[in-house]
Amino acid sequence: MMFLEKFQIFLKDKQLLETALTHSSYANEHPKVKNYERLEFLGDAVLELVMSEYFYLNSAYKEGEMTKHRANYVCENALATYAKKIGLDKEIRLGEGQKHNLNNTIIADVFEAVIGAIYLDQGFEVSKKYILDIIVPYVKDDWNFNIDYKTRLQEYVQTDKKSLEYEVVKEYGEAHNKTFEVVVKIDEIIYGRGIGKSKREAEQKAAQDAYLKSAK
Ligand code: MN
Repeated sequence: MMFLEKFQIFLKDKQLLETALTHSSYANEHPKVKNYERLEFLGDAVLELVMSEYFYLNSAYKEGEMTKHRANYVCENALATYAKKIGLDKEIRLGEGQKHNLNNTIIADVFEAVIGAIYLDQGFEVSKKYILDIIVPYVKDDWNFNIDYKTRLQEYVQTDKKSLEYEVVKEYGEAHNKTFEVVVKIDEIIYGRGIGKSKREAEQKAAQDAYLKSAK
């Protein structure tokens, strides 16, 4: 797998790597195949620790600032960006029904799962080096992964004196686990669509969709 070989990493346990790349939709269709969720849990913790240590050793930030910076570099958008950069998104195993629904959430989760697999197979130092090799260049470039697209879109629309409106078009799932689908309209025309676990998240995604399409 190029996303490991490029970094001179070779896992002894190939099964572990397969698990890290397997979404539950694929595992559900193939008896005895495990999905990445438990490895993701582990990788998430390794990632947090490595980036915490990095900011502790390499910055003079106060606690709150370290938290903010770490959050920026381990947020979903950031992890999905790294994963795509190293070609990890091409290796994910999805079930038939999910095949066309590869999204940033899954890509980011698989990135965490791969880190979990490296940690188990090769230990902390190797996983730490992998994480830093990938992320530090972005830190040096001062990348902002938490762009507030709602504000951006608002500003964009204001300059053109157009109206902006968000509307929930679909709502499904049980009360404690709802999913919202939101559209954003500019002068009554739908420009973007977003799905999220909260109205806020769905609105952000709809705004991002519209912003990237229109504000060029
Ligand atoms: Mn995750």
